[in-house]
Amino acid sequence: MTATSMRTHMCGELGSSDAGTRVRLCGWVSRRRDHGEHLAFVDLRDHSGITQCVVDGSVDVRSEWVISVEGTVRARPEGTVNAELATGEIEVVDCIVEVLGHAEPPPFPVDDRAETDESVRLRYRYVDIRRPRMQRNLRLRARVVEALRSAMVRQGFCEVETPLLWTPTPEGAREFTVPSRLHHGSFYVLPQSPQIAKQLLMVGGTDRYFQIARCLRDEDLRADRQFEFTQLDIEASFVSQEDIQGAITEAVADATEAAVGESPGEAERITWHDAMDRYGSDKPDLRFAMELLDIGQVFAGTSVRAFDAPCVKALLVRGGASLGRNRLDALVDRAKELGGKGLAWFKVTSTDPAAVDSPLDKFLGDAERAGLVSGTGAAEGDLVLVVADIWHTVCRVLGALRLDLGRPPITEGGRRFCWVTDFPLFDGVDDAGRPQAAHHPFTMPHPDDIDRLTSDPLSVRSQAYDLVLNGWELGSGSIRIHREDIQRQVFDALGISSGEAESRFGFLLGAFRYGAPPHGGFAVGIDRLVALLAGEGNIREVIAFPKTQSGTDPMTGAPKPVAETVLRDLGLRPIPKPG
Ligand code: ASP
Repeated sequence: MTATSMRTHMCGELGSSDAGTRVRLCGWVSRRRDHGEHLAFVDLRDHSGITQCVVDGSVDVRSEWVISVEGTVRARPEGTVNAELATGEIEVVDCIVEVLGHAEPPPFPVDDRAETDESVRLRYRYVDIRRPRMQRNLRLRARVVEALRSAMVRQGFCEVETPLLWTPTPEGAREFTVPSRLHHGSFYVLPQSPQIAKQLLMVGGTDRYFQIARCLRDEDLRADRQFEFTQLDIEASFVSQEDIQGAITEAVADATEAAVGESPGEAERITWHDAMDRYGSDKPDLRFAMELLDIGQVFAGTSVRAFDAPCVKALLVRGGASLGRNRLDALVDRAKELGGKGLAWFKVTSTDPAAVDSPLDKFLGDAERAGLVSGTGAAEGDLVLVVADIWHTVCRVLGALRLDLGRPPITEGGRRFCWVTDFPLFDGVDDAGRPQAAHHPFTMPHPDDIDRLTSDPLSVRSQAYDLVLNGWELGSGSIRIHREDIQRQVFDALGISSGEAESRFGFLLGAFRYGAPPHGGFAVGIDRLVALLAGEGNIREVIAFPKTQSGTDPMTGAPKPVAETVLRDLGLRPIPKPG
């Protein structure tokens, strides 16, 4: 609906074919320019764009006042066409202006050029949202959500709402707790995802469920993380992981098309092991190569102590020999911060005969020097970075350096979706030496590895998979355990006793005893997907009212104390934070 009883057109839609038409527009005064006493140009803005209105100099309107203008469209005189404005060929003349709302001077200019501190933007978010960038992002978000929703409906999924007042979800994040007024001392927990509810829906025969679900996690905030975020959450019965991945691929392709007008290329597929081994990350950014190179062979039986390790890998930095000593020292420090023992660097000064400039050069044999150069394909002027350690550490350190040195800016390099599959079932061990669930304890082990659940749990792969876009984890999912015997073995490996399992997830395990179909699901982080499609590096740019990095809302002042009576009703007494 553009025309209403108050207006005939939007500010961004008039063109030369409307010349001669009497129109009525409504919006905010973007800018006023006075030309002498009798003439003023008023740029009128709504979310669709800007129209120049020529008004009498005596008309009293100022920046961000809300007005309506009735006037006649005319082609702009020769030489005054503004090619940068969609409506730049016309202007509105013979105007009758009505002031609908006055405004104080805005706290910052309402355009995309101004660099305004984020806390000020969030404090006056209602003004910030008027800016074209925010309007573009919010509307792109709406198109993405609409496309995701209709893709799921088209594929036979049924939208179901699950409760916000819930009970703990076993996914590892800290949760928000809500005190019960009717049951003092008892609490609801806000869902970090609808995980358990959607599995119960499968037991309930829903077959294919989806929800545009708000999830809440009380975790430290970052560029890609907020306390509350939105997921496309799905679950389906009688499916393989490929079925789930296919349904999500289709929905995300539609969303991409709706957001940016082009469909993404085929998503690549890579196992977790290969992603770590080749890119040093379980969320590889495939927009650039710079793969980690295994040069263990070159240093087999080496006398260089630093390279006497189970895994030796290199990163080739083309043209990197020009990096100065400070930059190299910073890379070494970064490698140590990331948990590496160190980082060896070699500037390749010649390939034939192989020659390098490096503090370690004097320790290298000729064959090692030659192997280092040929094994990495280095050319003169390149830099080779080497880390030797256990496989996991080598991959992690070089994977981070690969991103530091090679990652293109967010808006460059296209969109490279990939499915990372075969994640390990367990993610290392806790202080007591117990395996930790990598995803959540209901994730189905890989069928080929189930018999090692007790004997060698850390080697067991799972049927868990992630969707990754340009190095951002867009979402994860898995096939779930629906068989009691396998669930018991996984709980045993995790050190969860049957008593504990009963008290934490008894209602789910109980439900499984009443006929659980094989099922699996996935959740796509909509904020992240929208941010990447909008070319934004921070999800706050695609959320209408986000929290700051420290979890506050400068506009409403939340979180803030509540009245004593509210606490009393809830049966709570505040305890001052220690320290
Ligand atoms: N519940 C999971 C998550 O929020 C997604 C899933 O396994 O479906 O990450």
